[in-house]
Amino acid sequence: MSDTIEKLKCLIIGSGPAGYTAAIYAARANMNPVLYQGIQPGGQLTTTNEVENFPGYPEGVTGPQMMMELQKQAERFETDVRDGWITKVDFSGDVHKVWVNDTKEIHCDTVIISTGASAKYLGIESEQKYLKLGGGVSACAVCDGFFYRNHEVVIVGAGDSACEEAHYLSKLCKKVTMLVRRDEFRASKIMATRVKNTENIEILFNTETEEVLGDGQVVTGVRVSNNKTKETQDIPATGFFVAIGHKPNTDIFKDFIDMDETGYIKNVPGRALTNVEGVFVCGDAADHVYRQAVTAAGTGCMAALDAERYLAAKDSSFEVSTSNYN
Ligand code: NDP
Repeated sequence: MSDTIEKLKCLIIGSGPAGYTAAIYAARANMNPVLYQGIQPGGQLTTTNEVENFPGYPEGVTGPQMMMELQKQAERFETDVRDGWITKVDFSGDVHKVWVNDTKEIHCDTVIISTGASAKYLGIESEQKYLKLGGGVSACAVCDGFFYRNHEVVIVGAGDSACEEAHYLSKLCKKVTMLVRRDEFRASKIMATRVKNTENIEILFNTETEEVLGDGQVVTGVRVSNNKTKETQDIPATGFFVAIGHKPNTDIFKDFIDMDETGYIKNVPGRALTNVEGVFVCGDAADHVYRQAVTAAGTGCMAALDAERYLAAKDSSFEVSTSNYN
């Protein structure tokens, strides 16, 4: 435990588009925000090669580049961006306590949670290899589907996300092969039916991924096996999409913040408020539906404005700045 406790008006945890946008707004509102970047500075977008759907980038931008620019913009207004991992919190009192790397203790008037979520992957070696190479493995059809126009792709998963993404891909791609590990979908009936009725989606039940095949640079196919018959086959594909769920990065908050059964933080609908006064949430930590950079940025703005209003109501000497409303 450290001897000196730092006191902050506003702490932002997480460095994706939600966190940096919250920082830009909080800094411009004189809240002197400190932002801790966490284990993956820049968040999920740093694993995306090309972002073409974020407004304002007519030529597209790489995920890492966009995150660097967001960080620069936050720092331009004097956000204190720090390396470090928040390992523990205590939101039981009036002052919100957090610990950085299990040592440094900080007391905060407001905390903005923007810790995001992580896509789950199968974890097999060949999948990880082509994911790291940016060679055709993706966990986001909406982000990356465009690059596979008229190609053949494979998608793994049988939940609502997999069905939604398979359907999305079917409109762009020549053929989508869907790998379902059991003999039924987990998805809602309506979503599963839509997939079953789409001509260029082939569903292989009881089928698991053995290996993502490639030429050392890019994906060329997927070796699958039927877990009943044990038969294997190679499916030609240039894209391998994984849609087996996301895990929100919210474990450290679970003793204090209301969450749904999968760990997504519950916010007051249309607001960034959580069940704890002075603690706000934005981005994928609370959003299992849209999960887009632009929606994360939008809720980051909301979290900072909600935090600003909370501070103004609590402390009459803190004036709501006008800069955010210009
Ligand atoms: P889910 O947890 O619902 O589904 C995950 C799917 O991935 C399951 O079918 C599971 O198989 C499969 N899976 C998990 N691990 C593996 C593996 N190692 N190999 C192969 N398959 C695997 O996640 P979703 O992201 O689909 O949905 C999350 C939540 O979001 C749900 O509540 C969903 O309803 C909701 N959602 C709603 C949407 C909408 O309404 N438009 C759109 C998207 C999501 P198995 O079934 O065998 O366990």
